[in-house]
Amino acid sequence: GGEDRHVGLLVLGAGPGGYTAAFRAADLGLEVMVVDGRDTLGGVCLNVGCIPSKALLHAAKVIAETKEMAEHGLSFGAPEIDLDKLRDWKDGVVTRLVGGLAGLAKQRKVSTLQGTGRFLSPHRVEVAGADGTTTVVGFDQVIVAAGSEPVQLPFVPHDDPRVLDSTSALELAAVPERLLVLGGGIIGLEMATVYAELGSRITVVELMDQIIPGADKDLVKPLAKHISSRYENVFLSTKCTGAEATDKGLVVSMEGKKAPEQDTFDAVLVAVGRVPNGKVLGLDAAGVDVSDRGFLTVDEQMRTNVPHVFAIGDIVGQPMLAHKAVHEGKVAAEVAAGKPSAFDAKVIPSVAYTDPEVAWVGVTETEAKAQGLSYGSGTFPWAASGRSLSLGRSEGSTKVLFDTETDRIIGAGIVGPAAGDLIAEAALAIELGADAADIGLTIHPHPTLSETVGMAAEAFEGTLTDLY
Ligand code: FAD
Repeated sequence: GGEDRHVGLLVLGAGPGGYTAAFRAADLGLEVMVVDGRDTLGGVCLNVGCIPSKALLHAAKVIAETKEMAEHGLSFGAPEIDLDKLRDWKDGVVTRLVGGLAGLAKQRKVSTLQGTGRFLSPHRVEVAGADGTTTVVGFDQVIVAAGSEPVQLPFVPHDDPRVLDSTSALELAAVPERLLVLGGGIIGLEMATVYAELGSRITVVELMDQIIPGADKDLVKPLAKHISSRYENVFLSTKCTGAEATDKGLVVSMEGKKAPEQDTFDAVLVAVGRVPNGKVLGLDAAGVDVSDRGFLTVDEQMRTNVPHVFAIGDIVGQPMLAHKAVHEGKVAAEVAAGKPSAFDAKVIPSVAYTDPEVAWVGVTETEAKAQGLSYGSGTFPWAASGRSLSLGRSEGSTKVLFDTETDRIIGAGIVGPAAGDLIAEAALAIELGADAADIGLTIHPHPTLSETVGMAAEAFEGTLTDLY
């Protein structure tokens, strides 16, 4: 069939996976075009995910810290929240970053095309632009980086402005008085952290018997305790079965031991997971296999079952995280450019940027037990960290898991302020095959929270002496 344009490499989706792949491929000499339905680069992460959520979490943290310090002799009074200004600032952070990406694309002569792409054949995609035009783009190779969308619940009304998903919650249209957060995973709890500090009374409903189901229970405990006194309710092992829009609010039905059968909320945030976009791209026209759930299967070179069709990021599976997408994007670009490359990361860290933060990498203790691994652990409670106490916080904990035969680190979990930054050291240690002595003998600066990683290793070795 005909085509309006032809490129060497088409990248479908301009999120962290897509733009990274496009830039790397251009640096390696390929002629690259990026197509995205949005009119800015950056995908979910920069536009409606990682970045705007972290900006708002910073605002929440400032409010929380002023409240904490009020107990220690430093009072600022109640915060005056100018929602319009706060929203502008958050939007400004996003605008600056996506503008930066546009500049980087231009520098590299990566061409961009706004529109929704659909495969017509193994070597052609039809792009329908917002302006009503369609462009058929032919390509030698393609990287599918179309990401994921929030899961919708069939029994929750979709056209009511009081029903939010992560995207509309980040728009910060209003601060509801009583907010129900459906889903106690990372995204739900991050948004709960924001809205709680802005003044909403929060109820969290989670189907599993703990919040952040992927992390160890002991790690999640300090977070659960922190929010239990601040939120109206956290209902675990509870199912939401219906939501009805009324004049008084959203009347929500629940099934769970502690939850009421019905309660009325001013807004409901649905944060029950994300669904990959694999089913809406017409991939059958290209002969690419898509799973029932909408995921594409790839090998370690990020190739699908059709060799010139690569896929990366949320659309190829869990964990749906930006840093995974970025690394996969590099590999796909390098392979497309004929370089020997493969995705072989040992571990991918996960972080909930809640207050306190929860971060983990490698095997969790739950997984180590389930797999029957011979492991030992070293734990350092932050109540003995001088730095933590001088931040006014004592509930944190650093836990490092080791293989008892080799003493090598196999996993780590950290809860406390800045846990997300601290987990990077454990990820590096695992990639390098470090053992407990390597970590314990590394001199960490004092007084920092990073010391707790060294001390956890020393606790495992039985050489821990210093407590500050
Ligand atoms: P995406 O970022 O999903 O981008 C895909 C792009 O493809 C989109 O721009 C979309 O418009 C486009 N697209 C889809 N279909 C088509 C089509 N047919 N034609 C044209 N374009 C199309 N991850 C982290 O690592 N850290 C965090 O702190 C974090 N916070 C998050 C907070 C929130 C609220 C959310 C929702 C997510 C968060 N994530 C976070 C997850 C992170 O955003 C994703 O893992 C990441 O964006 C996935 O990147 P990707 O390259 O797969 O594609």
